[in-house]
Amino acid sequence: MIQYKNDLEFAVEMDVRDPLKDYRSKFHLPLQADGKPYVYLCGNSLGLQPKSTAEAIQQELTDWQNLGVEGHFHAKNPWLPYHEFLTEAMARVVGGKPEEVVVMNTLTANLHFVLVSFYRPTATRNKIIIEADAFPSDKYAAESQIRFHGFDPKECLIELRAREGEVCLRPEDIEAVIAAEGQNVATILLGNTNYYTGQYFNIKQITEWGHAQGCMVGFDCAHGAGNVDLQLHDSGCDFAVWCNYKYLNSGPGGMGGVFINERHLNDPSIPRFEGWWGHNKETRFKMRDAFEPMPTAEAWQLSNPPIMALAAVWSSLKIFDEVGMPALRKKAKLLTGYLEFLLHHLGEDLVNVVTPSDPQQRGSQLSIQVKNADKRLFDAITEAGVIADWREPDVIRVAPVALYNSFEDVYRFYEILKFALSKIKEA
Ligand SMILES: *Cc1c(COP(=O)(O)O)cnc(C)c1O
Repeated sequence: MIQYKNDLEFAVEMDVRDPLKDYRSKFHLPLQADGKPYVYLCGNSLGLQPKSTAEAIQQELTDWQNLGVEGHFHAKNPWLPYHEFLTEAMARVVGGKPEEVVVMNTLTANLHFVLVSFYRPTATRNKIIIEADAFPSDKYAAESQIRFHGFDPKECLIELRAREGEVCLRPEDIEAVIAAEGQNVATILLGNTNYYTGQYFNIKQITEWGHAQGCMVGFDCAHGAGNVDLQLHDSGCDFAVWCNYKYLNSGPGGMGGVFINERHLNDPSIPRFEGWWGHNKETRFKMRDAFEPMPTAEAWQLSNPPIMALAAVWSSLKIFDEVGMPALRKKAKLLTGYLEFLLHHLGEDLVNVVTPSDPQQRGSQLSIQVKNADKRLFDAITEAGVIADWREPDVIRVAPVALYNSFEDVYRFYEILKFALSKIKEA
């Protein structure tokens, strides 16, 4: 166990000894007016740009410029199989087999496409379990899927709520709801980690509870992919979706990823919305054949993908491949632990970390509630050079990201927050 210390010297020493310290220089850090970098703690919302990404996109622009349509075959990275170049690295990040993973579309679109396959309500089993504080898009997707099948979200959407006076869900309460309602539940869909609280749910455990009741179980890993070690395949869950622009640094609105457990691949009883890019690639261009799905998660693809957007995902995945999730997680735990340690120094009566303190039940993000604070506190720390995220009514979300944040960043954030709090106390 490391003995954290509440001073800058300690933070700097941690940075010197950090085996991943060189990765910070591989990213563009947003700069303040005076040229100093911001303390950027918003990688859970939009990851920073890898310096290698511009060149990767430029390569595709150049090949398009020089080759036109021939780039599908003769580009340096031919566009026809382009998405395949990403699959293995993507699968390593989320712990899936390559055949279970595909990079395609965007997150909410993918959520609908997987629900078409894995939310198939019947007269008696038609409910979806979701968190009460699920990301709004996920809730809209679930509700509209329920209505699409002719059911009423008021009856069919079961929301997991924290106990009175608590913010995070207790595993035993999730288990109890699944046990009580499971026979009527078609699909369990949880955000993992939860975007608001930073709570990480045990995928394997929840999948076991759900499967024991005959439910499909899937996860929205927008805040999990590239953040925690998901091990999707070993967890046994049926499906997962995520975006690649948060911890995975693939640019605003960048492409999403999908995991389909191998037990569902090649199963003709599973319905799907289909398009030509899901068709067997050997015969895709004969164009006249009946649809013959790929035997992999690629069967869920619809369109030929946007190559420039894929280039951004690929350049980021190369960095993840170099580092590997275990090394990343190791630093992330130290970094977030340090942030938590410093926040406790601000007084637990004043600053309340709502994210679980158990590192197994969280990723990089801490969600902080400050007593009697309003948005003025957040504006003050922003003014002082911190980029973080404010969620009404009173939560500041901060996520030190192991790839590019330093222990010094965390310490500077602490100093700035401490100063802003002292100002508010005076006022
Ligand atoms: C970020 C996020 C989204 C955003 O969805 P897009 O379709 O990419 O705009 C949806 N759900 C969760 C849980 C998220 O964290």
